[in-house]
Amino acid sequence: MEKPLTKGFRPDGRPLTIKEYKKIGGYEALTKALKTMTPDEVLSTMRDATLKGRGGAGFPAGIKWEGVPDKDFLKSPRYVIADADEMEPGAFKDRWLMEANPHQMIEGMIIAAYAIQAEFSFIFIRWEYTEAQKCLRFAIGEAYGNNLLGNNILDSGFRLDMHVHVSAGRYICGEGTAMVEALEGKRAIPRSKSPRIVESGLWGRPTVENNTETFCNVPHIIKNGVDWYKSLSLSDEPGTKIYGVSGKVKRPGAWELPLGTTAREIIEEHAGGMWDGHELKGFLPGGASTDFLTSEHLDIKMDFESVQNAGSRFGTGTMIILDDKTCPVGMVHNLEHFFTHESCGWCTPCRDGLPWTTMILKALEDGEGRTGDLEQLKALTKMMAPHHTFCALAPGAMEPLESALKLFREDFERHISEKKCPWR
Ligand code: SF4
Repeated sequence: MEKPLTKGFRPDGRPLTIKEYKKIGGYEALTKALKTMTPDEVLSTMRDATLKGRGGAGFPAGIKWEGVPDKDFLKSPRYVIADADEMEPGAFKDRWLMEANPHQMIEGMIIAAYAIQAEFSFIFIRWEYTEAQKCLRFAIGEAYGNNLLGNNILDSGFRLDMHVHVSAGRYICGEGTAMVEALEGKRAIPRSKSPRIVESGLWGRPTVENNTETFCNVPHIIKNGVDWYKSLSLSDEPGTKIYGVSGKVKRPGAWELPLGTTAREIIEEHAGGMWDGHELKGFLPGGASTDFLTSEHLDIKMDFESVQNAGSRFGTGTMIILDDKTCPVGMVHNLEHFFTHESCGWCTPCRDGLPWTTMILKALEDGEGRTGDLEQLKALTKMMAPHHTFCALAPGAMEPLESALKLFREDFERHISEKKCPWR
């Protein structure tokens, strides 16, 4: 089984130097792109590869890049941004990629910049990721020192600068338009979706923004070609994926596996199965803002389409497990507390609806739930449904709650009838 994204990773987790990265084929893709391909050829290769964005939305990267207006129509500057602001509960895959091999993402970003003819690039990184920041800064210095960043990269005439920007620390900064606002030094609130940031992004200029893992895929696609990339997967969606599992499993962690690996294999084989004496009650397949699935879904392929067909979202591909000895109401309360704290406060349904939701869930956990609370929670999920709020944060926050109300209704009802949390 080929694992291009994690190839050569050291067991001790220390980052690969540029010399070590080059030994395993690093920067060969960039050399190929700059010396033998036009920007349009890079774009068409990326479109044909159909790499779906790994940050959660799953939008095809090549199509996004092709949305940048014609090079001659809008002159420089153009920008490339890496979303390294990994902050969703349960997600830790991008940190691994950046700490173990920072050059891989840097190479992917340089290729993206060449494809859209950008001159500046930013890595927008979560402030708590201090180790990853160090690794990236060191690697960027090595790249400048080896004529891979700066003027006249590899004597091709192409130039690019790269800068690490440390986030002030809000979950909403992971939303592309809010990230652009934050980079401009403004309050991080989302922008209207139109115009798209590929047309008018950072300082009103064309901007491509992709997730860390997405950029890490790019060098391998350019170097080995579309057919090879498609052959890595077990489903119709190409490539490998960094899957993660957290919760009461024997070996929580992250693994690179073919896209389309089943949830059962990931949980039972790679994560070692449940703790002894604990049963799987449900799982959030794609992180904190996705709908619960249950043991009857263990044999679904973990890819964007299959998970959606099962009634949830693939999201980041990092699962959170709910076991039978953990209170589902308490778990959802914990998640909603996070989303309430992270609401940017821009639109009323989210600003007011999320604290209300959290208040009711806390009351249930404290044994102070009242008849009618579950109907009220259901009404709140409708109030914060997709297209009822300015961005996807609130609808995402409602996914675990809405699905828990359906799947674990009895557990919610017991909190009211027994006037306490039955798990305490
Ligand atoms: Fe801000 Fe929430 Fe509205 Fe998004 S949904 S704009 S996070 S208040």
